[in-house]
Amino acid sequence: MISRPDCLARDAADTLAPLREQFDLPAGVIYLDGNSLGARPKAALTRAADVIAREWGKDLITSWNSAGWFEMPKRLGNQLAPLLGARDGEVVVTDTTSINLFKALAAALHDQAGAAPGRKLIITERSNFPTDIYMAQGLTNWLERGYEVRLVDSPEQLAGAVNADTAVVMLTHVNYRTGYQHDMAAMSALAHQHGALIVWDLAHSAGAVPLDLHGDGADYAVGCTYKYLNGGPGAPAFIWVPQRRQEKFRHPLSGWWGHANPFAMAPDFAPTSGIGRALCGTQPITSLAMVECGLDVFAQTDMAAIRAKSLALTDLFIDLVEQRCANHPLGLVTPREHARRGSQVSFTHPHGYAVMQALIARGVIGDYREPEIMRFGFTPLYTSFADVWDAVEILKQILDDKAYDISAARGAVT
Ligand SMILES: *Cc1c(COP(=O)(O)O)cnc(C)c1O
Repeated sequence: MISRPDCLARDAADTLAPLREQFDLPAGVIYLDGNSLGARPKAALTRAADVIAREWGKDLITSWNSAGWFEMPKRLGNQLAPLLGARDGEVVVTDTTSINLFKALAAALHDQAGAAPGRKLIITERSNFPTDIYMAQGLTNWLERGYEVRLVDSPEQLAGAVNADTAVVMLTHVNYRTGYQHDMAAMSALAHQHGALIVWDLAHSAGAVPLDLHGDGADYAVGCTYKYLNGGPGAPAFIWVPQRRQEKFRHPLSGWWGHANPFAMAPDFAPTSGIGRALCGTQPITSLAMVECGLDVFAQTDMAAIRAKSLALTDLFIDLVEQRCANHPLGLVTPREHARRGSQVSFTHPHGYAVMQALIARGVIGDYREPEIMRFGFTPLYTSFADVWDAVEILKQILDDKAYDISAARGAVT
């Protein structure tokens, strides 16, 4: 049996533990929802005040140049690139994940339309995050060229589903609900073997697991900065276009920020060279600036250290729940195999929603996703081993005492 002192000893030996100081978390809260909205870096408050009071308030429009506003999507992209296994000049932080996915998919279909016009299938998983499926459906319906979005029911079915009709395989690397992590190299190879391109969504991977987009054969990728990267609510997302694909890269959202010479104010669109052509229009500068505060924390460590602690935290949580809550109807949804696991753990419970509400009321913040799934995200930058022990202790008390209200009303966001 693992004890609380064991967990405290692990915290004392944890080289990432001091980074928690850089986050502002309310006292008495165990925050296990960084997979949905990362916690706030303390630096974000002073940075926001500076952007608003000085850059905007005093320097006004000159800040586009003097404060580097115009270059910010590229500068932050370069700062993020090492976490993705990407290179300088291949990533921009911009727009939303949904919008960037639309651009990447449109570009991939455009690539294929030249080389292999008969390919009409986009293959993804039914369990993918809905917006990814909706964006693919929206794009293909709009194009009206016979494209079809085909959904498969499990990762195992992908091998049988990808074929010579497939234009694009579009996968989310770590599943938002189950925490299942795809083998990026194997899935990219599968797509390429059939002549398809592969677009990866890294929403639950960036800042959570080590990534090697080049080494693993990805063609395009997008992802989110407000989850594990701690960029703040609704912070701009990112898109990766590898250098070898940039010259051909075309997408329909050809706004002026992607123009070769935006201030020439020319009536015709001509894409700029490089990753800048993935941009569309004016970016939310205050929000972009917050992304840097999150990335600055990552610059003080590396993804190998983060991954080692993430696996230790999720292993500990699984072990403790299974040891201490064994008499309750909890079902582990997340893979036990390390290589197949992201940085979250999901358990089903017949009253999952009510149990999660009771946990939140006692300061253990996770969230709930249909059907019956309680999600717990583990962010090594600010979660301790003692937090894990305490969260399981509270879960055990709630379950033992049946201290949850199964008629609890649901908020708009679960
Ligand atoms: C969180 C998440 C999104 C969010 O998309 P938005 O455009 O930011 O709303 C998209 N896809 C996946 C897989 C996600 O996990």
